[in-house]
Amino acid sequence: MTFAEHPHPSPNFSASPAHERLGVCFHHSVMPFAETLAHMLRPESQVSYHVLIAPDGTRARLVADEHIAWHAGVSIFQGRTCCNDFLLGVSFAGDTYAAPLTAAQLASALDWLAPRWPLHGWSTAAMTDHRQIAPVRKDDLNPSEWSRLLAAIAARFPDHA
Ligand SMILES: [Zn+2]
Repeated sequence: MTFAEHPHPSPNFSASPAHERLGVCFHHSVMPFAETLAHMLRPESQVSYHVLIAPDGTRARLVADEHIAWHAGVSIFQGRTCCNDFLLGVSFAGDTYAAPLTAAQLASALDWLAPRWPLHGWSTAAMTDHRQIAPVRKDDLNPSEWSRLLAAIAARFPDHA
């Protein structure tokens, strides 16, 4: 299944030719889709994701993979800080403590991952969420929703033996 993806270029990014893409940090936006999108398009918000996924699975592409989106803040992953430099940011619109991810959101995330997984040689160990890389400051995703997402990713993209 494929979902529509529309460009909504955000001014909130850094251009970096040496940008590594070691993996993905998943988020939820708390706010609904349209509100989140408007927030990310305002320069003064200083925040962005690479992609935002609506409850119906539609994706807004805010920052090109080639650029650094401003999604993680103070963070650490596998001993490295400044996670924006090497993790792409994917967010689900909504609050995973208030409502679970929709089936379309899960499927759309897999759809988004599909071309990138072999391109970057990712494994499930390269997948994380904001709660895990900024544990004192951030609580997204809801741990039970993170487990659902990771299980769906592992089922779709088996790690190389
Ligand atoms: Zn977050």
